Amino acid sequence: MTQTANRPPLPQPLHWPILRPPLTTCDTCRDRLDDLMIVVMHDESDSAFLAQILVARHIAAKHPDAVPLPHTDGCHLCAHYERHGDSGLWNEHRVRGLFLPEATARLM
Ligand SMILES: [Zn+2]
Ligand SMILES: [Zn+2]
Repeated sequence: MTQTANRPPLPQPLHWPILRPPLTTCDTCRDRLDDLMIVVMHDESDSAFLAQILVARHIAAKHPDAVPLPHTDGCHLCAHYERHGDSGLWNEHRVRGLFLPEATARLM
């Protein structure tokens, strides 16, 4: 029996297979999104958490043109990253909105 109470929420409903324009996917995108889909379908929330990070990190690093602009609706994480000058994590934060429901994407 596994304890799920303290795990991060699953990214459901997953916006699959969409990746919103202008993102053009590559093989790595597809592989990592496939991994994410598989762990979500099997309700492996710890793995899904890591899989989300890997997708976001890849897109931020390899598809910089696809990174959305900072949120302008009072997003406290955008404000935090801007204040601390952490552009890597900030980019990953914004990229998450490309493949996750907004409520999940904005958690980190
Ligand atoms: Zn890619
Ligand atoms: Zn934000």
